[in-house]
Amino acid sequence: MSVFSHPEFDNHQHLSFVSDEETGLRAIVAVHNTNRGPALGGCRMFPYASDEAALRDVLRLSRGMTYKSALANLDLGGGKSVIIGDPRAHKSEALLEAMGRFLEQLGGLYIAAEDSGTSVADLQVMGRHTRHVAGIAARPGFDGRHSNGDPSPATAYGTFVGLKAAVAHQLGRSDLEGLKVAVQGIGNVGYRLAQLLSDAGAKLWVHDIHSDAVARAVDELGATAVAGDEILGLNVDVVAPCALGAVLNDQSIARLQARVVAGAANNQLELARHDQALSQRGILYAPDFVINAGGIIDVCYERNGHDAEAVRRHVETIGDTLGEIFARASLTQQPTGVIANRLAEERFKPGREKGDLQVA
Ligand code: NAD
Repeated sequence: MSVFSHPEFDNHQHLSFVSDEETGLRAIVAVHNTNRGPALGGCRMFPYASDEAALRDVLRLSRGMTYKSALANLDLGGGKSVIIGDPRAHKSEALLEAMGRFLEQLGGLYIAAEDSGTSVADLQVMGRHTRHVAGIAARPGFDGRHSNGDPSPATAYGTFVGLKAAVAHQLGRSDLEGLKVAVQGIGNVGYRLAQLLSDAGAKLWVHDIHSDAVARAVDELGATAVAGDEILGLNVDVVAPCALGAVLNDQSIARLQARVVAGAANNQLELARHDQALSQRGILYAPDFVINAGGIIDVCYERNGHDAEAVRRHVETIGDTLGEIFARASLTQQPTGVIANRLAEERFKPGREKGDLQVA
């Protein structure tokens, strides 16, 4: 297994391979870049088929966090960790505590948050041995409601703000009254996004693999239920992928009728070239790592005194950042993802301006 010459290595600053015989912990911590601050990113637990698969995943995810935090103008770097194992079979308090002790040894270079396979409660167990965990504290939410640390409401709100910026740029309208939006995935983020859209007067079409989630959106928001993958090819103004990755591919892009794609799901493009394919079809794509940054903004502020109003204002800057990306993309006739990556690099490579939030 190559490391320094790995295709995804991309000048990572730090990699740790963690092993604890007593608890069976096997983990990898990747820190891509800390130019803007400590590397904050999720700790994922997954039964990877091989060490190689775990390494590839952690390297890709860690690099992605550098770009996401830079574009959110947070003074955070990019990092991620993976614990190799089945969360249902191999997770134990002792294993999580061992991970916490290891994070402490890193001295704050990397700060862990929840991710798939780990929960807020798991991070709290790690936190018995380290303060370098985040997204674990109950606090006043940015929306005035009580928050248990779950970043989904902030992610949904940021996606809503970003969707409005995309509609303004592409469709030249500032209100959402009667706007037709198809939402794929009515989970923690998708449902809240649908609520915000409904409140703003949008008409909704929804699909989820869980029929109870669909029924709730139909009953409570007046949404129209749609079967299967049809959701991506509907004759609507906006498609909002909020379920899973790789949904923007050769097949789906050919079927899209919407002129805007703006949703919260991570890694929506199956391949990097699909950014160009969307642009060639005249479809405006809000890059996922820009529009779904509300959660990381929320988690970041947890470490800075829970100022709910400041979180709201910061999440709203997602709209401004997307506006800048769309304008530059139009001017240069380049895909929005290419422009977003370049803007991020301007912000995290040496010589960049400082952001407006520092993490202690
Ligand atoms: P979730 O698990 O609560 O919701 C996902 C929903 O998608 C579920 O209801 C699930 O049944 C549905 N789904 C799964 N496969 C589907 C399919 N093929 N077709 C239609 N629906 C399907 O997850 P979430 O927290 O709402 O996150 C949604 C997406 O947003 C994920 O890609 C996640 O990585 C991304 N994201 C979430 C956050 C956050 O704060 N929660 C932050 C950034 C990015």
